[in-house]
Amino acid sequence: MPCQSSEKLNEVVIEAKKFTKYGKVADYIPALKKANPNDLSVAIYQPDGTCISAGDIKKKFTLQSISKVITLALALIDCGEKFVFKKVGYEPTGDPFNSIVKLELNNPSKPLNPMINAGALAVTHMIKGHSIEDRFIRILTFVQELAGNSNVAYSQEVAKSEFESSFLNRSLCYFMKQHGIINEDVEELLDLYTKQCAIEMDCLDLARIGLVFAMNGVEPTTKKRIMPAEVARICKTFMVTCGMYNASGEFAVRVGIPAKSGVSGGIIGAIPHRFGLGIFGPALDEKGNSIAGLKLLEILSTKYSLSMF
Ligand code: GLU
Repeated sequence: MPCQSSEKLNEVVIEAKKFTKYGKVADYIPALKKANPNDLSVAIYQPDGTCISAGDIKKKFTLQSISKVITLALALIDCGEKFVFKKVGYEPTGDPFNSIVKLELNNPSKPLNPMINAGALAVTHMIKGHSIEDRFIRILTFVQELAGNSNVAYSQEVAKSEFESSFLNRSLCYFMKQHGIINEDVEELLDLYTKQCAIEMDCLDLARIGLVFAMNGVEPTTKKRIMPAEVARICKTFMVTCGMYNASGEFAVRVGIPAKSGVSGGIIGAIPHRFGLGIFGPALDEKGNSIAGLKLLEILSTKYSLSMF
């Protein structure tokens, strides 16, 4: 069903867009520099299959850290909760997403949660398959199923750009390999991880994924269960505690919904039993969250009482 553009939502986008000028697009992955900092778009999917949107919703962006929620779901399906959390912890860090510091401070070493890079790399390591290609196809197919769109693909340009510049992620992997958290070839794991982060879509696709999480793993129009309710519950909990980097506490107070952001400027939201939400606004604040996207969510949350708390 086509998404209806909404006048009311557009007013919120216009208001939030004023904040793009205070942000900056990510540049540590060279290919992300090409984004237009003034962009802001949003789509909202409801359980009856209706959708409203505002902004240029045809713009595509890569998932980046948003993919961490999806690989967490797949790893939980593949390996079970007990195995996953033997290798990765449950706790927020208060540190930037790519920090290495807590890996050394914890004894035995273990990434504190699956939403920071170290934890996400350890989770991607758990995805089953016969080869890197096979594992990537499993991730991509899962994303396509969640988005209800078999055309979702990945950006080779962004994947390559990140692969060639991932020195920090390489160090995290080698540190974890030394400590037995991962045991595969680091270059291969990074190949898989950078492709997963480079999966590309628009806000409509992202909002549909958010809706599946919001509906505890079921796509409400087809009634198809895509993941166990327990898996969706665990993922949403991490979205609340660690989804917005080391700004998750403030976000919980100001907005109060399960959400996950990525350095491309995407934000996925899963408002339990109500709707799924996809935002794209590539100008980021200093913590790596879409600056106008945050503003937009704050306005929506206040206006429509979205907070769970
Ligand atoms: N691919 C990015 C990285 O590992 C994801 C970071 C993010 O979106 O927070 O650095």
